Amino acid sequence: MKLEISKCKQADREHLRAKRQYDHTFHKPNKICVASAFEALPLTHKVAIIIHEIGHIIAGYSDDKETNEINANICAYMVFDTEIKYIDSPYGKQLEYITPKKVEEIIPLLASVIDGASMKRFVYSQKDF
Ligand SMILES: [Zn+2]
Ligand SMILES: [Zn+2]
Repeated sequence: MKLEISKCKQADREHLRAKRQYDHTFHKPNKICVASAFEALPLTHKVAIIIHEIGHIIAGYSDDKETNEINANICAYMVFDTEIKYIDSPYGKQLEYITPKKVEEIIPLLASVIDGASMKRFVYSQKDF
């Protein structure tokens, strides 16, 4: 079973409230929900956000927000051998980011976790880095 990425109205509302908020998990089973604005992000942000969300799914949910965020990145690091950076960008302050080189390394790994249609729609469709 692979994870799907799909747009979600709640993610749109969260993005309107906080610009750097593009996505969430634990809303629908086996899905990473994204805001419409997610589609316009460069892959350096998109892939970083996706691996962070996969980290959340692996780490599981805790009531402590800060613990959740730390554990998500530890899990992302263990699976993808990649440290997620947080940078201020035109797309949001302190937004998840990885380098273009890391994006290229990670895409094949991502394809083993994310379903084909979601990869096509949100990752392969974009070669902008
Ligand atoms: Zn959702
Ligand atoms: Zn998070």
